[in-house]
Amino acid sequence: MAEHVIDLRSDTVTRPTPGMLAAMMAAQVGDDVWGDDPTVLELQSAVAERAGKEAALFLPTGTQSNLAALMAHCDRGDEYIVGQLAHTYKFEGGGAAILGSIVPQPIENNPDGSLPIEKIAAAIKPHGPGLGAHFARTRLLALENTFNGRVLPSRYIREATSFARGQGLATHLDGARICNAAVAQGVSLAEACAAFDSVSICFSKGLGAPVGSVLTGSRDFIERAYRWRKVLGGGMRQSGFLAAACLYALKHNVDRLAEDHLNAERLAKGLAGIQEIAVKGQATNMVFAQFPQPDCVPLEAYLAERGILAQIRYEARFVTHLDVTASDMEAFVGAVKHYFATRSN
Ligand SMILES: *Cc1c(COP(=O)(O)O)cnc(C)c1O
Repeated sequence: MAEHVIDLRSDTVTRPTPGMLAAMMAAQVGDDVWGDDPTVLELQSAVAERAGKEAALFLPTGTQSNLAALMAHCDRGDEYIVGQLAHTYKFEGGGAAILGSIVPQPIENNPDGSLPIEKIAAAIKPHGPGLGAHFARTRLLALENTFNGRVLPSRYIREATSFARGQGLATHLDGARICNAAVAQGVSLAEACAAFDSVSICFSKGLGAPVGSVLTGSRDFIERAYRWRKVLGGGMRQSGFLAAACLYALKHNVDRLAEDHLNAERLAKGLAGIQEIAVKGQATNMVFAQFPQPDCVPLEAYLAERGILAQIRYEARFVTHLDVTASDMEAFVGAVKHYFATRSN
């Protein structure tokens, strides 16, 4: 048996459980590019139903899912309004511009992830003959939930999406961790997705599948995204083996996200008891804390030697998930305490 490693770097690090692996092994598969993989079809209908949308599409990554969504909403030369710190804008290699010829219009995020509605309003360009010919056509508002672990306030979502709709814009949610948001708020997935035309959901984060994202929206929208998925190289063949992991996650790993949130609270509380550390916040499955700069490198190495993987930075982030337990939180906090108690000088 390999030593138990406590990995708090991200919720992307989870390994399939024996139950999930068994479900994958037993999957009925076909060729999804021919549209006849029954497990992929089952996953797509299950997600569409849970999210309260007409249709859904299985894609290899969240990055591709967001990109296919942007390309399905926007034509070449259209513009999307997005947060300066949004994953879609900042952490996806500029794919919308490179591959979609879509113009990003970033707006500075509030700390809770929202984009001020007056700034959205000011960013929408006139279109039509005359002056309108000067501008890219504003087509879409893209939001993110959760944002750095924080649940985007429901009231803000209602106001921003209805404002966008009134301006003729479509709305997309990067809901990589929307299940964390729904569980934290005690609402259904459908409720958490209701305000948006399209939502992208990651299965390889807290839900614990090895690979996969699902994009959901109207039938027309998903038909357009389906074509872009093929163009982007995301048409997979016997992908039912992967879809089976996602179906298993949908059934077994959604409600238990509450445990991850509880573990993050435990971790924040434990770190707050260490004098050298300033806990800056905790939201859903993430904890943010400041560490003394000179200790970052040696502490990270000290923890790694003890089977604890965490990125120790001046501004550090720790993420809980289904492969870490309440006692792992204690072990992590204990090791950090021990480091500070015994370090020289
Ligand atoms: C992880 C993540 C994605 C998608 O990332 P992939 O690694 O491509 O699956 C998108 N948005 C957010 C907010 C994420 O955290």
